[in-house]
Amino acid sequence: MSSNKDVVLIKDGVRLDGRRFDELREVKMEVGVLKRAQGSAYLEWGKNKVMAAVYGPRELYPKFMQDPTKANVRCTYNLAPFSVDDRKRPGPDRRSVEISKVCAEALASVIQVKNYPNAVIDVFVEVLQADAGTRCAGLTAASLALADAGIPMKDLVASCAAGKVNGEVVVDMFKDEDNYGDADLPLAILPRTGEIVLLQMDGKMTRTEFSKAIQLAMGGAMKIYEMQKQALMKNVKTTPSEVQ
Ligand code: ADP
Repeated sequence: MSSNKDVVLIKDGVRLDGRRFDELREVKMEVGVLKRAQGSAYLEWGKNKVMAAVYGPRELYPKFMQDPTKANVRCTYNLAPFSVDDRKRPGPDRRSVEISKVCAEALASVIQVKNYPNAVIDVFVEVLQADAGTRCAGLTAASLALADAGIPMKDLVASCAAGKVNGEVVVDMFKDEDNYGDADLPLAILPRTGEIVLLQMDGKMTRTEFSKAIQLAMGGAMKIYEMQKQALMKNVKTTPSEVQ
């Protein structure tokens, strides 16, 4: 994020893509899209396109990494080379390692890990197209994929960012707002309790702006939660005999 006061991102109270300050980009979710993963989800969030897949629970190897009291939750977040304007060098980098870690921790806090001693649950988040907010989109897709895999969880994880753009607190920034804005605050919650499982921030905000940003991100995450529930319901397969 490189704050640039000369870049006009808000004109007459409207953002460059026509949204209000508290309005999310369009979001589409689909669950159960991959045949060979235990669970999967595909999500479009604005121009972001993200696929999440779950493998496991299965026995963790090498054995010395096993925890007899609970499952190990691993997450691999990857930005595809073709997902951004300039080709991204393939493979992990500092950013993807950090995002993988915070996402794994957020997901581990919701999964009933004690049900699976000595096991590993692998979650893969592949960002096919990136336009800011990919960790929120990735986490949202990952928790849908876990639900699709039938892995018991306390709740879904719903995520959304808020931040500051041209001095205004706004929700769910797209790439120009993220690049030239003043602050970015991704958040993930367990919607039923409001518990926060991921909170990061870069840039500068006053305390009042910070509180407003948390409020907007929470509101955004609650809307995402409603969409997650709908996406999961849509995927419930009904057999012809059940319809009769
Ligand atoms: P998030 O995607 O969660 O908002 P960042 O704030 O780190 O994470 O990144 C913001 C956006 O910057 C990304 O969504 C992507 O569009 C772009 N971006 C991130 N890393 C790269 C990269 N290595 N090359 C080009 N663009 C990138």
